[in-house]
Amino acid sequence: MAVLDEVLKANDDYAKNFGEKGSLALPPARGFAILTCMDARLDPAKYAGLAEGDAHVIRNAGGRASDDAIRSLVISYKLLGTREWFVIHHTNCGMEFFTDDVMRGLLASSLETAALGEEGFHDVGSGPGSAEANYIDWLTISDQASSVADDVARIKAHPLVPDRIAVYGYIYDVTTGRLVEVPAATSAGRATE
Ligand code: ZN
Repeated sequence: MAVLDEVLKANDDYAKNFGEKGSLALPPARGFAILTCMDARLDPAKYAGLAEGDAHVIRNAGGRASDDAIRSLVISYKLLGTREWFVIHHTNCGMEFFTDDVMRGLLASSLETAALGEEGFHDVGSGPGSAEANYIDWLTISDQASSVADDVARIKAHPLVPDRIAVYGYIYDVTTGRLVEVPAATSAGRATE
């Protein structure tokens, strides 16, 4: 079955058993948000015990505190009342395997999917590519603990984020499913009023 058919079939089954979820309130019932990576191995609903209606989950490549992630977090507290946020990066993240220069080189070369080898990503496509990648900050990661701490610090320092929000920093271990605290991040993320 093609992916499209698989998804629509799964959705049909889901909707048939939707039950009381149709009357859930808009604001997240448990008052918190998670910013995490889009990596397919991570399922925040499972690793953090979420049901529909419980929490906001904001995902992007790396789980980075990009301007757009912060936009979502600000909406999350200002309009929908969340009080605690988690920044959760993870081991073996693809964002550790390239740099801005590498990504820009790959995209300048072609728009085909690159191959990942021992030496990192290399391009296997035929051009043309595009120089547009030079204008994007890809927010790559060289050290997970530092990226979590940097992102928590950036969120806490943001003028639209009130001091009373607590931000916790964790690394999800893809080999065990466990969340490991980044103490420097959690300490930087303490609510201060
Ligand atoms: Zn990742």
